[in-house]
Amino acid sequence: MLDRVAAGARVGGQKAGWGAARLAGRAASSKAPTHGEAVAKKLYVKTFGCQMNVYDSARMADVLAPLGYGSTTEIEDADLVVLNTCHIREKAAEKVYSELGRLRALKRVREKGGNEMLLAVAGCVAQAEGEEVAARAPFVDIVVGPQAYHRLPAMVARASRARRTAVDTSMPAESRFDHLPEELAGPQPGRGVSSFLTIQEGCDRFCTFCVVPYTRGAEESRPAAEVEAEARRLVAAGAREIVLLGQNVNAYHGAAGGETDAGELDLAGLIGRLAAIQGLERLRYTTSHPRDMTPALIRAHGEEPKLMPFLHLPVQSGSDRVLAAMNRGHTADRYLRLVEALRAAQPEIALSSDFIVGFPGETEVDFEATLALVREVEYAQAFSFKYSARPGTPAAERDDHVPNDVAAARLSRLQRVLDDQKRRFNAGMVRRTLPVLFERRGRHPGQVAGRTPFMQWLHVDGDDALIGSVALATVIDASPNGLAGALAGSAGAPVNARDGTADMASMGGIPA
Ligand code: SF4
Repeated sequence: MLDRVAAGARVGGQKAGWGAARLAGRAASSKAPTHGEAVAKKLYVKTFGCQMNVYDSARMADVLAPLGYGSTTEIEDADLVVLNTCHIREKAAEKVYSELGRLRALKRVREKGGNEMLLAVAGCVAQAEGEEVAARAPFVDIVVGPQAYHRLPAMVARASRARRTAVDTSMPAESRFDHLPEELAGPQPGRGVSSFLTIQEGCDRFCTFCVVPYTRGAEESRPAAEVEAEARRLVAAGAREIVLLGQNVNAYHGAAGGETDAGELDLAGLIGRLAAIQGLERLRYTTSHPRDMTPALIRAHGEEPKLMPFLHLPVQSGSDRVLAAMNRGHTADRYLRLVEALRAAQPEIALSSDFIVGFPGETEVDFEATLALVREVEYAQAFSFKYSARPGTPAAERDDHVPNDVAAARLSRLQRVLDDQKRRFNAGMVRRTLPVLFERRGRHPGQVAGRTPFMQWLHVDGDDALIGSVALATVIDASPNGLAGALAGSAGAPVNARDGTADMASMGGIPA
């Protein structure tokens, strides 16, 4: 399962050339305006949930760019509003309906002014609810599941003429990766100094609490040659770090696709191939399943300098009884042995995890086993949630649900332990000098912010020119949410992205 990100991130596509997207050209060939007919329209995408949704929002902006859609940060001005939804949290669908209620009022205001506002619901709620959205919110123009984003331009082109909601939640037999645009529509969230790149979608693991196998379909890996081509485009556009995404990313097994290579690459092989790209400084991947951590991938953490020493490896519970009920396919001991192997390969590796507290049937003894595992691992950060039933999943059918107050009390006990660990981890960085990839301006004027190899945000006083480069910074202060530091030595001098050693051959201040 992917890491969660702050809900409500906005994304919008920039206008792109008409030849930009082979997908849109194909899908909307009969509807797309010609050069002369291009009309600038405004797109507002609100993204909920995980990095995969952030990436998908950028994909939707890409495929809509050839129809003339560019981004806006003002929802009132939007000709098309897309809610890219997440189904992972409790009452997710209800939250979407209440958001739609607010949008309906905006749509009316725009229509009174003689303007159109198309409303689209995308993402996992769209996939799970489908026609239900059309029935409950008939003013919605488009309901589109994650497997059908390539058909969005055609749906949008038809929507202004249609009087009923168009719903497409099909899971096509053809590869979902066939439809990605070859050119990118411009800088967007998830695209920048650190860029997301989806290499795998869907999941065959069927954890009993999870909707992903139903909403995203069977596991599918993108051919390595295509991944490499997109990575090269991202680097050419300014990316210095690429985060490889997949619902179960370490199950990756893509066709190699080279001129002479008819075989398959696993994730370790793909990382090796991408690491050869000049100008790419850092690689990360998320989210992994413990069962798919191969020896080769563990070794890569010790051997590949561009692979950052941070791993999100969800365990969910420390109780073997609960892990079996979740259909996780591993025990607590197996997970701990993996952690041991990872630390043997890369002693500095920082670990993160997901936890579900109050899974049906979880006893106090089970919960204590989770606390024991957490104490043994010592995490750098983690995401923890109370179990919430997802309709249609096996766990939702169980009749031994843990009372809410019990689950809430356990969650706060767990979070206290995890918060302490995070505080300790960050405090342990003080006085260390780390290579930081600067990604954006900081909160205050004259500040820039970047990530350490261990995924912590670090702020320094520095010039905008640092953005897009790796520079050394000495950590001065730490809080649970990040680090403050000062540039060390020659600001902006290129350094080894992982261990901070200066690249003496190129000390000319070239962006890394
Ligand atoms: S591994 Fe389990 S939790 Fe993760 S996406 Fe697959 S089914 Fe969901």
